Amino acid sequence: MSGKVGFVSLGCPKALVDSERILTQLRAEGYRVVPSYDEAEVVVVNTCGFITPAVEESLNAIGEALAHTGKVIVTGCLGERPEKIMARHPSVLAVTGQADVAGVMAAVHRVLPPDDNPFTSLVPPQGVKLTPRHYSYLKIAEGCNHKCAFCIIPQLRGLQVSRDAGEVLYEAYRLVASGTKELLVIAQDSSAYGVDLRHRESAFQGRQVAAHLVPLVRELSDMGAWVRLHYVYPYPHVRELIPLMAEGKLLPYLDVPLQHASPKVLRAMRRPGGAESHLKTIRAWRAVCPELAIRSTFIVGFPGETEEDFEQLLDFLQEARLERVGAFTYSEVPGAVANGFPDQVPEAVKQERFDRLMAVQQRISLEKNQAKVGRVLEVIVDDYGELPGEVVGRTKADAPGIDGTVLATGDGTTKIGDIVRVKVTGATAYDLSGEVVSQVPWRPNVLTLA
Ligand code: SF4
Repeated sequence: MSGKVGFVSLGCPKALVDSERILTQLRAEGYRVVPSYDEAEVVVVNTCGFITPAVEESLNAIGEALAHTGKVIVTGCLGERPEKIMARHPSVLAVTGQADVAGVMAAVHRVLPPDDNPFTSLVPPQGVKLTPRHYSYLKIAEGCNHKCAFCIIPQLRGLQVSRDAGEVLYEAYRLVASGTKELLVIAQDSSAYGVDLRHRESAFQGRQVAAHLVPLVRELSDMGAWVRLHYVYPYPHVRELIPLMAEGKLLPYLDVPLQHASPKVLRAMRRPGGAESHLKTIRAWRAVCPELAIRSTFIVGFPGETEEDFEQLLDFLQEARLERVGAFTYSEVPGAVANGFPDQVPEAVKQERFDRLMAVQQRISLEKNQAKVGRVLEVIVDDYGELPGEVVGRTKADAPGIDGTVLATGDGTTKIGDIVRVKVTGATAYDLSGEVVSQVPWRPNVLTLA
């Protein structure tokens, strides 16, 4: 066995996937990943550098790991700005950027040379996962080709680099074969998947599959697991995926970050569209798949946003009646273009607009949830409740960590990872409650390993 490594994983699902890759490699090389600083001989901190509070959290985590072990390797988004890390923590051993598994491993090797005994290098077929066994994030591309004025991800992560379809599909296959029942497809902009590869084809099980979202998702949906799409931009080709949702092959769920509805604010954000084009797209999707649950995020108080712009956003929300909405008050990200924009909105106005937006959306969400009372919905179980027999899960309209949950009573036989049918008996703006009525048999279309 090689040495003992502590690991701290911060940030978004994309960072989580990087953490899983590093942990998989550590395990593959025989390192033991230990849960406490006391046992660790070196600690890897995977950082987030997206917004100021995340940078602070990352710097504090590095400080804490240093205080306990004295040996820390930093990777991730904040690692793209080593000067910031070294200024606060000059004793850090190495700093590597995001998705740099090889860089982290080289730094680990310098502190703890690997044990080359082949019998210690066994790794589970699904790699090492930080999510529960029944759902997994599937990263299809890294980086972003957009230039949104409030964001520095393209500076941090570079232009989009997609993975070949065959590589993604074999990873998905391994995951489903080893127990994953829900695949969550992620990228900075999933709709643009494969553009950088000019949609080249690669082999998967004897077929050639193009690096393009539509054929990729068709192949994924054939594996028999729930497939959920995140960070989808409303490009025309997304429409080709909606019939798969209507057929029940792909989850009727789209996470579409729209950010605003005023064309003027969107132009300032350097993003396309506006209320009219958003509504046209949403209506076309719902005409094909009425069950579709749309999740979106919005920024209020972007520089130059007037009361009229904001009311346009509220009108849009009332018209679109989206199923899930997340909102943020605009805050500066060091290095973002929008920091220098005139007409910054005072904090108190941002907060007031945020509260108004949330009040409007909560009414819509409550009505939508109340309409589910009496229906029987499929629910994937993530956890046990506090009372005996209770389980906590999610419907097809809910992604883990960001959407609502279902608290259901059962007879005690339901386990984490099961998919069950739940009769809905209660609803709030965010969550549902109900009773487990039956199990949904799990019959994936892959050769299972477990
Ligand atoms: S916010 Fe804009 S620039 Fe930032 S990652 Fe998303 S699409 Fe790319």
